[in-house]
Amino acid sequence: MAEIPKVKIAVLGGSSTIGAGFPREFEEISIINDELFFETPFGLTAPFTYAKSDGKEFLYVDFHGITKNIRNTEPDSSGERVFYVLWRAGVKKIIGTALCGSTNRLLDPADVVIPDDFVDFTTKRPQMLMVSLQDKGLDVARYSYRLHQPTCPSLSETLVKCCKKAGFPRVFRRGIVGVAEGPRLESPAEIRLRWQNLGIDIVTMNFVPEVFFAREIGACYAAIELVSNYGEGLIDPRWEGSTAFRSFQRKWSKPTIESIIMALKEIDADDESCGCSSYRWQSILL
Ligand SMILES: [Zn+2]
Repeated sequence: MAEIPKVKIAVLGGSSTIGAGFPREFEEISIINDELFFETPFGLTAPFTYAKSDGKEFLYVDFHGITKNIRNTEPDSSGERVFYVLWRAGVKKIIGTALCGSTNRLLDPADVVIPDDFVDFTTKRPQMLMVSLQDKGLDVARYSYRLHQPTCPSLSETLVKCCKKAGFPRVFRRGIVGVAEGPRLESPAEIRLRWQNLGIDIVTMNFVPEVFFAREIGACYAAIELVSNYGEGLIDPRWEGSTAFRSFQRKWSKPTIESIIMALKEIDADDESCGCSSYRWQSILL
């Protein structure tokens, strides 16, 4: 099995980067090691790539670490496996990516939202990485943490700037993301009642547990949420499912990846002035 390298930056691929050949087909990036399957207490991970861009080393995993054999639900979920690796690697800055549906009627496909808050509607995801590790018999301390600033303001600002430069028509520096269990999409009534009436702007499936596992391991997290479709029943009902997804991905995966490459250049992995790493503390109860 591969040994987990010491790396301070991670990029978690999603539906907006899958199939785009990132990072190995991009000349700005040199591959240090590829096809790395790491052993974790939850089982083997999906393949990671260990790469370098403009002097910055980073770990990349496709599609949130989900494979045909690794689900995003408990037990032994993709999130637990991926974040065990990021914790052991000493990762401090994490860029997330995802496609999402709109629930705010002002949003259109190809808009980018860099969320500053979230509502977790999932029901089968792990909630604390250290609890999962204790359940596996590891002697680790639990952390409590605050989520008053769930995403990193400075990493988010970097993503806003880079997404604008990469040519997305509109980039929003705030928005509330609702996280659905999935994998099915929502009905019009669910969009209307469960999401839109709560002030939620976009709906996705993979922001959780990344956002709070990052806090638990003391890392900053921010995500590029790319609107791929209107929420059902909101604007345009003539949405063609998989065909639309594929052509959308072909058009917008390139600027998504350009944004990530530009952001990698700008990130200072040792900068803790945002405060994110100070919002957790070792639990006195457990
Ligand atoms: Zn931060």
